[in-house]
Amino acid sequence: MTAVLTALQNIGAKRVVDLGCGEGKLLRLLLAEKQFEMILGMDVSWRSLEIAKERLKLEHLPERQRSRIELIQGSLVYRDQPLAGFDAAAVVEVIEHLDAPRLSSFERVLFEFARPKHAIITTPNAEYNTIFETLPAGQFRHGDHRFEWTRAQFQTWANDVAERFQYKVRFEPIGPSDDERGAPTQMAIFSQQEAAA
Ligand code: SAH
Repeated sequence: MTAVLTALQNIGAKRVVDLGCGEGKLLRLLLAEKQFEMILGMDVSWRSLEIAKERLKLEHLPERQRSRIELIQGSLVYRDQPLAGFDAAAVVEVIEHLDAPRLSSFERVLFEFARPKHAIITTPNAEYNTIFETLPAGQFRHGDHRFEWTRAQFQTWANDVAERFQYKVRFEPIGPSDDERGAPTQMAIFSQQEAAA
């Protein structure tokens, strides 16, 4: 979360949407930084949003703080979402929950319809899995994961998406890096070509 926060700070984002915000771990960090003037959290899970609301103590925030953040229920695979006009979108450990047809809908929802200036996407690095002693070989880290990608697979997907939707993309490891297998999580930072220029 701190790696994503730092990337959002470096971009200079003011309006941020956290897609698949879950229980609000990133939202909590964003709320603590004045730089972020408008924060939107979206998740398909009502239950997760309820937990986020409690954890962020939304009902007890002073009005000035409260007016900076909003939570909405919505899906990343439907295009009729109020997601346009953001400086940055964060999609943290979410894409691996989407099966292949949904992943391609998500690509259009994010990069064609929402079209934030920047998008930060993280996903597990499958190569690192053998380092987790309690994870049986060949298994995913979470029962709901539809895939876990190697660095090459993620970069191939991200480069292709960036080219199709006119973004530039760069990659950063997250967590302690192993010489051969890389870091536990991988991050892609997309910037609209005109924003990056
Ligand atoms: N970003 C959070 C949660 C990651 S877990 C964090 O890192 O802590 C994955 C989240 O994606 C869950 O909260 C799940 O409800 C959400 N999710 C899965 N499919 C989704 C979809 N189609 N649209 C929006 N959110 C989705």
